[in-house]
Amino acid sequence: MLKIKNFLKKNKISLSRFISLCLYQREHGVYQNKTIGKHFITAPEVSQLFGECISIFLLILQKKYKISNFCELGPGNGTLMKDMIRTLKKFIDGPFSINLYEKSEYLRKLQIKNLKKLESEKIEIIFLSKLKLKKEPYLFICNEFFDALPINQFEKKNNIWFEKKVIFHKNFKIVNDLTNKKFSDKFSNGDILEESPLTKLYMKLICKHIKKYGGGILIFDYGPFKKGHVDTLQALHNSQKCDILDYPFESDITYHVNFEEIMKISKDYKLINYGPITQRKFLFFHGINERLSKLTEKIKSSKTIHDLENQFERLTSPYGMGSLIKCLFISNYKIESRAFDFHE
Ligand code: SAH
Repeated sequence: MLKIKNFLKKNKISLSRFISLCLYQREHGVYQNKTIGKHFITAPEVSQLFGECISIFLLILQKKYKISNFCELGPGNGTLMKDMIRTLKKFIDGPFSINLYEKSEYLRKLQIKNLKKLESEKIEIIFLSKLKLKKEPYLFICNEFFDALPINQFEKKNNIWFEKKVIFHKNFKIVNDLTNKKFSDKFSNGDILEESPLTKLYMKLICKHIKKYGGGILIFDYGPFKKGHVDTLQALHNSQKCDILDYPFESDITYHVNFEEIMKISKDYKLINYGPITQRKFLFFHGINERLSKLTEKIKSSKTIHDLENQFERLTSPYGMGSLIKCLFISNYKIESRAFDFHE
């Protein structure tokens, strides 16, 4: 840590580099020593119902287009894939591969521990440290992956554009640095633009692959339908919101994903966008009610039934995850799911 502080006494670094250090630096990065659930809880960690509904959606495509590769980006503890494998293996006859792309070595070890045992003659599980893909179609899935990628921020002040940078002077501080980057005149003073270089990189790579070999990507992430020009960076420390500089290297850092930007990239590859729709809409259309009834039918303990109903509520609540998290599907296939038919 001293090394990082000393470096930042003499050098300003971009926000994305700072966030990357806070989250993924080998020794001190948050994702290098904490399981998902310490600072924030995600949908798969809330309930198995999430992965089961996703599997239903993907199985329709898998059957129709005979796809035998699934790939998750940023699998966290491996919980979503564990729930998905349980459902997928019941409905897929032939062999299939599960690919997990993870940056954190700590989380990859945890994923190996939780998932390796599910490997069988039928299911090949591949842990990827580089996004190297076969020349075949894949169904990609990611939950809260893009909101965990580092971003840069630019602000217009008195008609001049500045980039936010980080230095260390007694404490970590954010400073404005003049930038040569060019932006459209349509922006007003006070506007803040957020850019995620890694989102662009991954989306281009994946869209290119989908265009060439088929398949699709199903994305769940925090963000509005239309992103405003404001600061959405946020940190979570033990589930409490805080500033990213309050507990650096101890808090999770996220921001609101720009779905329009993601869709724009996919359109450059002439792919089709479905959504975004809210998480609750996706789950209702893919059988969460029916699945809950089926599960509760078999259970006698009223405590377990109560727990399941609470999980259902958390995933679908219009005041929480249910509407804050959006779902977008990108593919070159024409799909017939009514879930994506109209906007809310
Ligand atoms: N999908 C999981 C975890 C979400 S947290 C869940 O819903 O519970 C974000 C995940 O993305 C973590 O596993 C993190 O280590 C991983 N991640 C972040 N940046 C990454 C990158 N550049 N490449 C691969 N994985 C990354």
